[in-house]
Amino acid sequence: MPDPEFETPPIDLLVIAAHPDDAELCLGGTLLAAKDRGLRTAVVDLTRGELSSNGDPETRARETAAATKILALDYRSNLDLGDGTIRDRDDARHALVGEIRKLRPKVVLAPWRDDLHPDHAGAGELAYRTHYLTGVRLYAPGAHPPFRPPQLGYYMGHTPFEPSIIVDISKVFERKLELMFAYASQFHRSGVEGAPTKISSPEFARYVEGRAREYGVRAGVELGEPIRWQDPPAVADPSSWIVGEGLPGSEPDRGIGSVDSGSADRKRCS
Ligand SMILES: [Zn+2]
Repeated sequence: MPDPEFETPPIDLLVIAAHPDDAELCLGGTLLAAKDRGLRTAVVDLTRGELSSNGDPETRARETAAATKILALDYRSNLDLGDGTIRDRDDARHALVGEIRKLRPKVVLAPWRDDLHPDHAGAGELAYRTHYLTGVRLYAPGAHPPFRPPQLGYYMGHTPFEPSIIVDISKVFERKLELMFAYASQFHRSGVEGAPTKISSPEFARYVEGRAREYGVRAGVELGEPIRWQDPPAVADPSSWIVGEGLPGSEPDRGIGSVDSGSADRKRCS
């Protein structure tokens, strides 16, 4: 008798998050852009954020449901592994292996392994070790067969890293802010008092935009989200990475035998 869950179509992009709101804050633009392209997206939260200085787990769960709706996710789950305790450990590996084998994602994105927040760094390390184990046939045999996702990468939380790619989120940035403010207990609202935290200050939205602009400008787009691959992906079709319209200032001198030969040529010649 086939498991009905195994019959569901595989996920294209799976985001692993230490706390509800991490996926929205760090990769909300990427998730929205992926959904706009018709990709199947999922988030696995590892905790309920119960150590948060503001709000409570029940409020956070309602906010997560609202954000999930905006993201139009195909799947979201919470492994409830205990806020403040996320480490690469056996019970966490088992739980995450089950989710990854069930969803069979093409790409998994986890928090950067060297992040300042111990839960984020722990989640990144857990994802790295679990990614290997998902393909080991006799490890934690369960309802779903072994499956190792082809691509593992990391997203940026507190601590910067040198990215492998920048996702252009210019068209979805306003919706990313909506996502952030769906978590009203965590982020600043004028006239509402709460424990001061890094993300509850009125400056935080400007900081989010500033970071998106910083990485966007490096890639020649307005706003971007940085991703770092664990290993470089193979690209079979070179046209898939000959992209864009050229960085600002990269237009060739049109006075010397210039021909309009398309954006790919403009980028190569400049
Ligand atoms: Zn977090």
